[in-house]
Amino acid sequence: MHCASCASIIEKSLGKVDGVHAVSVNVGTEMAKVSYDETKVNPEQLSKHIEPLGYTLVIPTDAPSAAAMGMSADEHTAHLGLNQSKSEKLAELAAMKTKIITIMPMAAFAVGIMVWNILAEFNQVAAVPSLWNDSFNTLLALMATYALFVVGKPYLLGLYRFLRYGAANMDTLIGIGTSAAFLYSVIVTVFREEVRLYVNVSVTYFDVAIVVIAFITLGKYLEARAKIKTGDAIEKLLNLQAKTALVLRDGKEIELPVDQVVHGDLIIVKPAGKIPVDGVLTEGSSFVDEAMVSGEPVPVEKNAGDTVVAGTLNTTGSFTFRATKVGRETMLAHIITMVQEAQGSKAPIQALADKISSIFVPIVLVIAFVSLGSWLLLGTSSLGFAQALSFGLVSFVGVLVIACPCALGLATPTAIIVGVGKGAKEGILIKDAATLEKLHKVDVVVVDKTGTITKGKPELVRVQNQSALSEAELVSILASLESKSEHPIASAIVSYASAHNIALKSITDFKAIKGKGVQGVIDGVAYYAGNLRLMQDLSLSLSTNAIEQETREGKTPVILATEKQIIGIVLVADAIKPEAVEAVAALHKLGIRVVMLTGDNAQTADFIAKQVGIDEVVAEVMPEDKLNKIKELQAEGRVVAMAGDGINDAPALAQADVGIAMATGTDVAIESAGITLLHGDISKMVKAVRLSRLTMRGIRQNLFWAFAYNVIGIPLATGMFYPVFGWLLNPMFAGLAMALSSVSVVGNSLRLKTKTL
Ligand code: ADP
Ligand code: MG
Repeated sequence: MHCASCASIIEKSLGKVDGVHAVSVNVGTEMAKVSYDETKVNPEQLSKHIEPLGYTLVIPTDAPSAAAMGMSADEHTAHLGLNQSKSEKLAELAAMKTKIITIMPMAAFAVGIMVWNILAEFNQVAAVPSLWNDSFNTLLALMATYALFVVGKPYLLGLYRFLRYGAANMDTLIGIGTSAAFLYSVIVTVFREEVRLYVNVSVTYFDVAIVVIAFITLGKYLEARAKIKTGDAIEKLLNLQAKTALVLRDGKEIELPVDQVVHGDLIIVKPAGKIPVDGVLTEGSSFVDEAMVSGEPVPVEKNAGDTVVAGTLNTTGSFTFRATKVGRETMLAHIITMVQEAQGSKAPIQALADKISSIFVPIVLVIAFVSLGSWLLLGTSSLGFAQALSFGLVSFVGVLVIACPCALGLATPTAIIVGVGKGAKEGILIKDAATLEKLHKVDVVVVDKTGTITKGKPELVRVQNQSALSEAELVSILASLESKSEHPIASAIVSYASAHNIALKSITDFKAIKGKGVQGVIDGVAYYAGNLRLMQDLSLSLSTNAIEQETREGKTPVILATEKQIIGIVLVADAIKPEAVEAVAALHKLGIRVVMLTGDNAQTADFIAKQVGIDEVVAEVMPEDKLNKIKELQAEGRVVAMAGDGINDAPALAQADVGIAMATGTDVAIESAGITLLHGDISKMVKAVRLSRLTMRGIRQNLFWAFAYNVIGIPLATGMFYPVFGWLLNPMFAGLAMALSSVSVVGNSLRLKTKTL
């Protein structure tokens, strides 16, 4: 595909096929997403429908993510998101390059003669001797023949398909324009005597055909080269995949291709070795550099029980781990699929450009013919037929050449591809282009306290015994209850018990009480553990003085009680993440309000919010109230991003305009979230917002220039300003402008890569 109009032609023709439900074609990635009825049609047949129009469906033999794993990097590039394999693309580029090398000197020659003629007209140099003029014209005629039939073959094919099938893309426009210039010049040269009476035979347009084809081919070459670069994020991710793994089987170390590793295999990682699949460390310890996958800059310490992910790099230690996710299940494979899908998706902002480019080609054809006709009708009386025809022809060719919706079509997808790829490099996984677009408008970020602002790994700091039981007995009962809970508070209590060698009791009838705590039966007695609200439910009163001071200092009380009385209180403290303060300040700088939601005690929450600089705290909320708070903010007209852990916050994440999931471990495919931050770090949220704003700014600039270029270029090319200002656009400049417009759009998108977030 060479142009946005290609995308709309393919969409239209595939959409008409019986059995096809939906088609979406992306010019940036050159991918078509087709949903179709398998009983009615198959990909091969679909391809047949577009082949006459000059396109083929390259049908992947397997789903990209399946194929993505266990292949060499070269094979991977077949799934670069380009519809052709990269090597094919590169071969096409090389062929284009030879054509450019031959045609550029010819274009320079043609421009040289044109400049000479112009200078002579202004009496700056002597006129071109008439004897030379004839041989120049012959030379230009030969060069133009080469330009049109060799270099310009795609454009002639475009013209042919237009005549044969009525399908027109930008190649058609260029084809019509350049062959009109060529044909006119041939007629004037060959039938010089016969037409002398009617037209100005001293003027031919061979140079126009040469220069236009040269510039447009050069533009396409540069554009294609830049477009390959926009997609290199995927290539880099694919290259992270190790090719082999050192596996321990039957007590022997054997080196296996990575696709032969199965669940449960024990894998040995040597110093500086790549981790081949996802798994859990069983023996040894080391620091692992995860920067390439999660964007985490400092190597992470790994001990037995910690997870390691494919594609990361071991530093100096060595260890053994058990494979838990292989092939397409690994985090890396998920990331690759996610990036590919996001890069191929369409941003809503693109809709207008798509609509315009789909009707662009026929409209431009009409404008070109109307301007030729107008010149002949209106110009003949004042300029004479010969001059009017010559101007008409210039405007006809100029309009066709300048009016390509290429830049318009590339404006959005190229920026999205670069933006999504850049995000992936930083550990910011974006689900689709629409999410990236929405994120830039966000003005409120709602965060969960535990795990987002605080480390999410609380510690038990104090025990207040209010009963006759021993402290160890109290802790034992509490820890036994909590051993069934998955709340971070629960694990703080359980690890305290195990650190103090306090044995757990057997427990029955365990129940988690949402947003409040837990309950269970131990030795025939029903126990409850949780927050103040839970005690209120039990109608147990607690002197708040006892914990007032502690909660003001940010500690969370967990109260243990039976149905009749309170047994004791333990205080749990969760340290604030060091980066949270800075991240909140950075969000403020971006004009974003930060709201913290928590089920925790109000005083505890207030303390933490103050430390971090959070604008608003909503404490003691039940999980379903989180959702309501978001709805409330949205009703105020706010655009809300919600960051949470993605598991118990799923409804709130889905309700928010942008759901941001903080991934921990190896779970990246969090369905309810539009954005997943690897290594669950809140400062990445700032980066994500900046990325979205930069990408959107790039898209707007691209769209502005692409529109402006056509809005100015087309009227200028028609020559409508000639009667007033004497302006007429030389088609050669039209060719140059057209080439520059799409190159500059792709170049502007690529600029995003160099920005720091
Ligand atoms: P958050 O994620 O903000 O802590 P939750 O709804 O998960 O919100 O929990 C709300 C509150 O309920 C907690 O702050 C805590 O006081 C209490 N709670 C929840 N689960 C437990 C538990 N397993 N043990 C003790 N208290 C709990
Ligand atoms: Mg929670």
